[in-house]
Amino acid sequence: MFDPFHRPIKSLRISVTRKCNLKCLYCHEEGELRSAQPYEISVAEIAKIAHVCYEEGVTKVKFSGGEPLLRKDIGQIIKALPPFKDISMTTNGQLLEERIGDLEGLDRINVSVDTFNPATYKRLTGGNIDNVLRGLDAALEAGLTPIKINMVVMDGVNDHEIGEMIRYVRGKEMVLQLIELMDFKKRAGLRGSNLRVIESTLEGLSDRTTTNTLHKRKKFEINDAEIEIVRPIDNTEFCMNCNRLRVTSDAKLKPCLLRNDNLVDVRGIDQVSDALALELIMKAVKRREPYYKPRPVDGAYGRRKADTY
Ligand code: SAM
Repeated sequence: MFDPFHRPIKSLRISVTRKCNLKCLYCHEEGELRSAQPYEISVAEIAKIAHVCYEEGVTKVKFSGGEPLLRKDIGQIIKALPPFKDISMTTNGQLLEERIGDLEGLDRINVSVDTFNPATYKRLTGGNIDNVLRGLDAALEAGLTPIKINMVVMDGVNDHEIGEMIRYVRGKEMVLQLIELMDFKKRAGLRGSNLRVIESTLEGLSDRTTTNTLHKRKKFEINDAEIEIVRPIDNTEFCMNCNRLRVTSDAKLKPCLLRNDNLVDVRGIDQVSDALALELIMKAVKRREPYYKPRPVDGAYGRRKADTY
């Protein structure tokens, strides 16, 4: 499947629930609007979308939310998938230790950890960091590797902890992902750190630097620690290399994290033929366009009006 910008669709990011057990101050909630009538996507709807997309060349699935481990049937959801090359999940890790036995079939996991400082963690998320640390140990033991540690970097909040995070992942089957804050909730009073500066500092220290194909992310290896930079804002390369279709927790196909004016409602998709399901999926694929586009004339960044938040 290709979108009108010749970008192949290779991955699905499925939000399996809106519910969350944390209240992260900066959370973008995967760009979902609050639905007037809450509806939670079913196992059968997820399975149908996944199977049709698999037949059309999609190779990866990532579960997100809300908090995916709050879904009691997460094990059933994973088992209902076709044999994708890569099945992963992003979790806050609060329930990871207790739900690890339900994750058979998952290849790897991303765990959101902005800080190891218990007080800062509590202030940012409302949760308990000890639960996450136990979850990380359980995930390592279960082989859900490489584990990616998602750290959203914020000035004066956790930017001074990058060194500690690097030491934590060093020598383990873990990758530290430093993520640029997408500032949807300015009222939280948090300011994202300048990841371009951090990126060039790390590049100077790096033993080996590579760039991944999806999103052109830079990855550094520094003395047996792996660090990736996720810098989506005003990044035309990030958008041009996006090969992802999103599925919302209320069963809508979402062509872009940053827009809500082009969703395709697929509630009940499990009840229709594969051909009709593919038509619905293609409707969303055809609506995909890069959010940040390079302007051919002056090379400056083009950007849609921020119309969705
Ligand atoms: N509850 C799960 C978790 O905490 O990982 C999954 C949902 S959470 C929305 C998915 C990822 O989005 C997390 O790694 C989180 O750090 C990241 N995220 C949330 N809000 C963000 C923002 N404003 N800017 C950048 N990343 C953000």
